[in-house]
This record gives sequence, C-alpha cells and structure tokens, in this order.
Amino acid sequence: MQRVYLDHSATTPVRKEVADLVLSYMTTNYGNPSSIHSFGREAKKALENAREQVAGLIGAKPEEIIFTSGGTEADNLAVIGTALANQKKGKHLITSVIEHHAVLDSFKYLEKQGFEVTYIPVDEYGLVNPDHVAKAVKEQTILLSIMHVNNEVGTIQPIKEIAEIIKSKSQDIIIHTDAVQSVGKIPVDVNELKVDLLTASSHKIYGPKGVGCLYVRKGTKIEPRYFGGGQERKRRPGTENLPGIVGFGKAAELAKQELKQEMVKLSELRDMLMDGILKTIPDVKINGDREKRIPGNVNVSIRYVEGEALLLSLDMKGIAASSGSACTSGSLDPSHVLLAMGIPHEIAHGSLRMTLGRDNTKEDIQYVLDTLPGIVNKLRAMSPLYNK
Ligand code: PMP
Repeated sequence: MQRVYLDHSATTPVRKEVADLVLSYMTTNYGNPSSIHSFGREAKKALENAREQVAGLIGAKPEEIIFTSGGTEADNLAVIGTALANQKKGKHLITSVIEHHAVLDSFKYLEKQGFEVTYIPVDEYGLVNPDHVAKAVKEQTILLSIMHVNNEVGTIQPIKEIAEIIKSKSQDIIIHTDAVQSVGKIPVDVNELKVDLLTASSHKIYGPKGVGCLYVRKGTKIEPRYFGGGQERKRRPGTENLPGIVGFGKAAELAKQELKQEMVKLSELRDMLMDGILKTIPDVKINGDREKRIPGNVNVSIRYVEGEALLLSLDMKGIAASSGSACTSGSLDPSHVLLAMGIPHEIAHGSLRMTLGRDNTKEDIQYVLDTLPGIVNKLRAMSPLYNK
C-alpha cells in the first residue's frame, strides 16, 4: 500500500545527513561541553557551531540563542521567565486566543499567580488585528506574545506590524513570538520582525525531537525556570543535549540553504491539493487565509463528516493527516483555534489538516485526491445530518 505522510506540522522525519551527525555525537564525539579535556573542548566547539547555525537561520547573534528541550520549554521560559523578571514594572500581559497550549497554559499559570492577561481575538481567517493589540496595551503591560504562524490553519500573523505598534507605545514591552511553525518554512528574521524573544523547535525542521531554542535579544530581562550549573549562561542549566543540538544546528543550516526552493515546491503542492479538494468534494471550506499562509498547510472543513472518522479512513489507505493539532487530537473537543475563528462546532468537527513536507511529491497529492472523495462519500452516506 502507498503511504503518504501529510502531518509535517506535527513532526518531520530526521534528514539522513542530520541523523548521521547526531549518531556521531552519541558514539564518537560524546564529550561534555563543560569538560576541559579534548573531548570536552570538541563538544564545546560543536555546541557553539550549532548555535551559529541556528542563529543564522533567524538573523540572530549566536549569544542570543538559549538551547532548550523543545518549543514547549522555550515558550514556557519566554512567557513565565519574562513575566517574573519584569513584574515590578507591571503585571499586565497580552496574548491571542489561538496560541499553542505551551503559550496559552503558561499565561493561565501566570493568571493564578496574580497577573492579568488580555486575550486578543482573531477574525474568520485566524488573523490578529494589530489595532486590537494596540487597544489592549495598558501602562502596566510588560509582555506580549503572539505566534508567528498558527499550527492548525497555517495563518501568518502580522508580527512586524504588531511589534511596531507596541514599541511606538512603549519600548519597554517585551515581544515574544512562537515561531515553531514558521522557522525553516518562510523567512524569519528577528530584527525584521522586531521581536525580543522567539521560539523555535528542531523536530519541525527535519531535526531530532526534544530540542529547540529561545532567542533572547541582548538586554531582555528573563528569569530561568531551572537551577543548577552554569550552562546557557545560567538561563537554562543542565548538561546540554549535544547530539540533539548538533542535529538542530545542521537541520537549521540545511533549511536556510533550501528555504526558497522548498517554499516554491510546497506552495505548488498545497495549491494542487486545495484546488483538487474544492473541485471534487462539495460542501468544503478552506480554513485560514489563502494568501497569508505558510506553503505546506492545507486545512479544510468537510461538512457532514467527523474529523476522527476521516482520519481513520485515510489512515487505512496509508494517508497520515491530522484533525486540529496533534497535541489535542484524541480529545473530541473541536479545536480552540477553529472555534475562535467563528467556525460552528459541527463544521469544526469535520476539519482535516494536511501539512506537506520536503519528501512529498505530486504523485502523493494525486493519490490523496483520488482517495479522499470516495471516503467522504462513504462517510456522508452514513451521516444522519447529510441524509436529512
Ligand atoms: N508551538 C507551536 C506553534 C507548535 O506547533 C508546537 C508543536 N506542536 C510547539 C509550540 C511545541 O513544540 P515542541 O513539540 O518542540 O515542544
């Protein structure tokens, strides 16, 4: 049976050249970067090389990169670490309703600690309006966190415009963006975006899982979440996950080299898939903005079918997709992102996310287009709503 992986926003395969490097830092170059002998020195050199590679992908300086155990930890550190470090200036924070739970739940935690949080709504395309953000700013506002690209609908937020408006009101407000779903997929530059903090994750860009980073602009006050050794300038102590970090660095370097060609290829495949679905299946709606969207994301609501049933039927045909986000699938609640976009419960339930990656081909997309209409017809034939 043909197998087609269309869940690259959940995770990506590790590239061969990356995996080879990771293995060598487990079996041959296994030193601890803090050790002073030659093994340690070689490890330290590899660590700093990876820091340069990751910084290079986002236009940062190497010393502004803190390696973490992934996007979740970097988001927690960004939100909670800056809120705690700057609370003397004020206790008001701003975020959006469509953030990943790594950000949302960090804000929920801070609310319990006495902080006040304003949650900015989105429009029907999942976009945050910079004017809404501007109106939310108060004298006590210390932090704003809005994601660059949404993991479910792929919508690209106007981070630069938001940052400019915020900074024009107060230079002191710290701006964080969760860029887990944009780094390596579209151009991301911390200076262009005018952000102070940015989260990235290795396993979304063909690197290993369990490693990521937080970019921290020089001069930004942040409290660590862990305590121990002096690693990562004490902001993230603990012996570094060197194989993971080296793999992340290599993946970042390759992503930078191939960004332009990948964007062209994935946009073409995405449009082929979206247009094909719209042409062959009635009562389908594309979720998210058609233009302001990352190249590899297709998110559709297919009326009168359940997303979970769709996923299972596709899986039986070898097609791996997702409904909502991988982190919340398994629960039957419709995605908080789709609901925030004003999509009714019953339509949000029938949503399907297909996220494309570098190994996908036109043949893969054609296979999906040949398979999906039959599955939808079968499920609709069983649906009481469709047959009313
Ligand atoms: N933020 C976003 C937008 C994500 O998509 C994810 C991964 N699903 C994360 C944060 C968490 O990253 P990680 O899996 O590296 O912890």
